[in-house]
Amino acid sequence: MKVPHWVRGEEQAELTDYPARPDGVTQRLRLTTLGGSSATARAGLERRVIVVHDFNELRARVQEVLGNVIADWPGAESADQFVVVSGHLDSWDLGTGATDDGVGVAAAAGVIQVLHDLNLRARRTVRFIGWANEENGTRDGEAYFNSVSGKIDAQCAAIESDSWGGHVLGLSAAVTKESLIRLKPVIDALAPLGATALDPRQGQVGTDIGPLQTAGVPGLAPLVDTRHYFDYHHTAADTLDKVDPGNLRDQVATLAVLAYYLADTPACLPRVPKPDRR
Ligand SMILES: [Zn+2]
Repeated sequence: MKVPHWVRGEEQAELTDYPARPDGVTQRLRLTTLGGSSATARAGLERRVIVVHDFNELRARVQEVLGNVIADWPGAESADQFVVVSGHLDSWDLGTGATDDGVGVAAAAGVIQVLHDLNLRARRTVRFIGWANEENGTRDGEAYFNSVSGKIDAQCAAIESDSWGGHVLGLSAAVTKESLIRLKPVIDALAPLGATALDPRQGQVGTDIGPLQTAGVPGLAPLVDTRHYFDYHHTAADTLDKVDPGNLRDQVATLAVLAYYLADTPACLPRVPKPDRR
C-alpha cells in the first residue's frame, strides 16, 4: 500500500508594499501556518494581504480570496437554464497539476471552444466552471451551490472532469435508472472514439458538483482509463509531458457531445431522488 508522505518546506513571507513604506524596506511577516494551502511555486508568489481581526471575520471574508471562473455559452431558447461542465483550477503539492486537474479544465473549457467554433447554440446555456478549491475543502462547490440554490431547478445537469489524461472510455452517470436510456444517443455518437461504456453510478461523480448532486441535479463525468493515474497523482511527476494530446482531444469531444446533448434535449433529465444519490 502506498502512503503519501508530506514534507513541509521553509515558510517565509514579507510585506513588499504598504502605506509610507521607505524605499527598499520590506516587513517580515510571522507565519503561524501554511497548512491548508497548496504548495508555493519555487519563485514564490505575491498577493494582496487582507487584515482580519478574528476568525468570524476571516470566515465572513473567505470569498474574497476564493473565486470560481465561470463562462457561459448562452442558450438559444432557455438561457436561464444551465448545463455545467467543469474542472478544478487548484492543484496539490509537488507537481504542476497538469493532469490533476489541468486536463479536466482544458477539456471542459474546450467544450465552449467547440460550440463556438461550430457555431452551435443549444436550447439551454452551457456553463463552464473552473473550480477554485477542489483539493482542500470544496468551498468553491459550496459557494456556487449557495449562489444558485434559490433556483436549483435551473441547474439542468452538472458535469465534472477530474479524471486525468487517460483514454476516455465512456461516461459515468449518476442519474435515475430511467434516464440511462436517454443517454444512448450520446454513447452512439461517441462510438468513433471508442467511448461507449455507460457506467451507472450512485452518489458523487465529482467533488465540486457534489452539493448540486445532493440537491438532486443529475451528475456526469467522463469515464477515463485511470490505470496510470496514481503513477503521477499529487507527485512532482504531474507535469504537461504526461498529457497525451490525442486523449485530451477525445475528452473534449466527449464532453462537447454530452454537454450539447444535455443542454439541447427538450426536457432536462429528471432529478435524482434521495435513495439513488448515495
Ligand atoms: Zn482533482
